[in-house]
Amino acid sequence: MTDTEHGAPRTAAAFREVYGAEPTGIWAAPGRVNLIGEHTDYNDGFVMPLALPHTTLAAASARTDGVLRLHSGGAAGGIVELRVDDLRPVAPARWAAYPAGVVWAMREVGLPVGGADLHYDSTVPTGAGLSSSAALEVVTALALDALYALGRTPQELARLTQRAENAFVGVPVGIMDQTAAACCTEGHALFLDTRDLSHRQVPFDLPGEGLRLLVVDTRVKHELGDGAYAERRAGCERGARALGVRALRDISLAHLPEALNKLAGDAVVQSLVRHIVTENHRVEEVIAHLDAGRTRAIGPLLTAGHASLRDDFAVSCAELDLAVDTANAAGAVGARMTGGGFGGSAIVLVEEADAQTVSTAITEDFAAAGHLTPRVFTAVPSAGARRVR
Ligand code: ADP
Ligand code: MG
Repeated sequence: MTDTEHGAPRTAAAFREVYGAEPTGIWAAPGRVNLIGEHTDYNDGFVMPLALPHTTLAAASARTDGVLRLHSGGAAGGIVELRVDDLRPVAPARWAAYPAGVVWAMREVGLPVGGADLHYDSTVPTGAGLSSSAALEVVTALALDALYALGRTPQELARLTQRAENAFVGVPVGIMDQTAAACCTEGHALFLDTRDLSHRQVPFDLPGEGLRLLVVDTRVKHELGDGAYAERRAGCERGARALGVRALRDISLAHLPEALNKLAGDAVVQSLVRHIVTENHRVEEVIAHLDAGRTRAIGPLLTAGHASLRDDFAVSCAELDLAVDTANAAGAVGARMTGGGFGGSAIVLVEEADAQTVSTAITEDFAAAGHLTPRVFTAVPSAGARRVR
């Protein structure tokens, strides 16, 4: 039994405590890390997330009176009560906007969703770049899909929840996080082509290979983040326009030198383009290695991806660089920052036998540098969203 199944009785008990009745069901959706393919999702490119064992659980029942009641063990302030007819974007920026946005997005496309009582419990760290927001949205969508017999596919639910976060919460995220939460499977990373949304499960059996994937949550989030994201995004669009392509995804590695020539005089856009083109190529190389069972061979690609994010895309920070450098110096197979950058988490691929040494080295180097104590845990490629009972 996973921690998620273990948590279900507690979530049911909390629902009874909050709402005074038994929930109709309990659903779960995981957090994620992205193995490779960073900042590629808004360039029509490739990403490769995997689901964490950490999940957000939702206990839920439908209501017939159009009232939506939301309660989370992870949020102060008690029950948030809304009327589904009154939901309008952009909602006040607080946690309830995520699940309320999902209800709104479903009703926007004409799905017959009414009121509900929902209680959430989560083991996904929030704001650590592990996508607790997508876990919250996707578990809500899955619960409502079942309660109202909507029959939507996981990918359709992912699209609806992305729309909720974009249009209702007001955060311009791509489709990766929601697709990961909805579609990942145990023992696999999910290859996703963000242009046509085709996806494939790629075997990533870490325990079977004697390997571990560590997640290093730096516990910092540098303020720079939001503006820098918009800037990178605009720079990539400028590059695509200058190169006459729909998106940077359309530049292959073979055509990179020619593209960089064309962009001479705009060093910033050159660097952005170089990252996106080489990163898409790294995703393809990682897939080829994993399909061939050469799991260790992806290590140098992870580390090269980090260098590219640090030097070309300029979205790393001291904490992420230290995590990666220390991991590699202590014998890791490879390491990189994961997520948008400027804080959040790094991932480290390591031999099982070296995991403790590497983890200790990172914690010690963080202490010596005066950084916050990082949270280090193991990421087993886990299941996507599902009904728990
Ligand atoms: P990330 O998705 O990387 O964790 P975000 O800033 O996108 O970071 O989302 C974090 C926000 O999502 C939290 O501040 C909170 O508003 C909301 N959230 C996520 N999980 C929960 C939860 N279980 N209960 C209440 N709010 C949550
Ligand atoms: Mg998020």
